[in-house]
Amino acid sequence: MVRGHLVTGDDAGLGLVGHVPVAATGPMCAEGHTGCATAMLAMPSIAAAASVALLRRVGYDEILDLAEAGDPAAGRIVANAGHALGRLLH
Ligand SMILES: [Zn+2]
Repeated sequence: MVRGHLVTGDDAGLGLVGHVPVAATGPMCAEGHTGCATAMLAMPSIAAAASVALLRRVGYDEILDLAEAGDPAAGRIVANAGHALGRLLH
């Protein structure tokens, strides 16, 4: 959400910083970067990481629910995204 409007798309909300490196390792984005902001923070990237870990298709909202419920893989993915966001904002 930006100023009350829902923003959608792979780079929603990331704007010009979408491909800034934020992790030395991590998933790859469509541009071939490893650990860039899009690869670590875009909702489809987070959903893809969880789907790989849990061996089934997992939606973004479900990942947050699983993490809150104590699922170790979902919790780690959310924590990694949080750390990446911290590096992006630093
Ligand atoms: Zn990238």
